[in-house]
Amino acid sequence: MSREDEQRQALKTAGLDTLAVRAGQVRSAEGEHAEAMFLTSSYVFDSAADAAARFKGDVPGNVYSRYTNPTVRMFEERLAAMEGGEQAVATSSGMAAILSICMAFLKAGDHIVCSRSVFGSTTVLLNKYLARFGVTTTYVDLKDLAGWKAAITPATKLFFMETPSNPMSEIGDIAGLATLAKQHNILLAVDNCFCTCALQKPLALGADLVIYSATKYIDGQGRCLGGAVVGNKALTEEVVGFLRSAGPTMSPFNAWVFLKGLETLRLRMEAHSANAMRLAEWLQQQPAVERVHYAGLPSHPQHALAKQQQSAFGGVLAFEVKGGREQAWHVIDSTRLMSLTANLGDAKTTIVHPATTTHGRLSDEERAAAGIGQNLIRIAVGLESVEDLEADLQRGLGALS
Ligand SMILES: *Cc1c(COP(=O)(O)O)cnc(C)c1O
Repeated sequence: MSREDEQRQALKTAGLDTLAVRAGQVRSAEGEHAEAMFLTSSYVFDSAADAAARFKGDVPGNVYSRYTNPTVRMFEERLAAMEGGEQAVATSSGMAAILSICMAFLKAGDHIVCSRSVFGSTTVLLNKYLARFGVTTTYVDLKDLAGWKAAITPATKLFFMETPSNPMSEIGDIAGLATLAKQHNILLAVDNCFCTCALQKPLALGADLVIYSATKYIDGQGRCLGGAVVGNKALTEEVVGFLRSAGPTMSPFNAWVFLKGLETLRLRMEAHSANAMRLAEWLQQQPAVERVHYAGLPSHPQHALAKQQQSAFGGVLAFEVKGGREQAWHVIDSTRLMSLTANLGDAKTTIVHPATTTHGRLSDEERAAAGIGQNLIRIAVGLESVEDLEADLQRGLGALS
């Protein structure tokens, strides 16, 4: 056995941290230690016969980077190993991952059941574009298993959920929904952006597909857009087929950034979670804070479920200040350190007013149903010293109480 084969063998029983730094790496003839970035759109063949064989698929090998690229492949292999899936498929963004599963598995007349509190662009994609091709969507309360069941029709082909939800930290029961989905021959896709495989493993809980925006915690430093779909070989091959024809594949440069991001993902997720936990506990004690929404708090109504299916609670929390929009804006505008942006999953803490930004498109009734008041602030807690984050919020909160 070659040394490379021996290493591949050893990785079969390796733990998450070992997979994070070693899984999927293939060295070139140069013997580079770090993963190489293959910035090439196409590949050369040994002969006309070799070209014919590779095009036909008789001989494995690269043809064109919309189909395969060695750096993208390394990212896919590493993510699949960490997630515990047979195969991962990389996409140009998180939205491209969501589009690609819709295109791979749905046709006119089919029906989706989706949790109400999903990422805003997901709602637009389903309501405006998928609907145009005859695919309809019913939105349900993430937490309400009976509601999911009641929404099923004979045409339902896909359950789509995001847990924990943004910004309210609601938790969906992945195992419960997986059982329901299986009973009705429905695919369950879980958007795992907020926890990542470092904290939550939807496939092990029975989900069919895991969806990523790699733009968030997998990058972790806010540099690149990308996404992925993870699942068994048969399902992900359907996604591969769509991507090769339609083209929203991942660039090798971005794949290289994400590949290196995976190496520190667990360490970062635990640090984000620890910082968020401390900040949530601190916020709960501030007189100007009415309520804190974070599944890590024992007072969270779904704390037990979160604890059961996650190993920690992630970096995103929300809180309500006493008062309304004016008071919330005051707290946001009084910060100096935090970045005032809607992005999340970054080493730098971000702060945003959901009611007038990320959830500004919703009607007042929809916002009220989602519990997103004018006094709500969302924080995606970064990796700074938590004392500095507290001081940054104290400046505005102190003036309110
Ligand atoms: C950002 C995000 C997406 C979309 O990902 P992009 O990479 O921005 O296309 C999807 N789902 C969730 C939960 C997200 O946070």
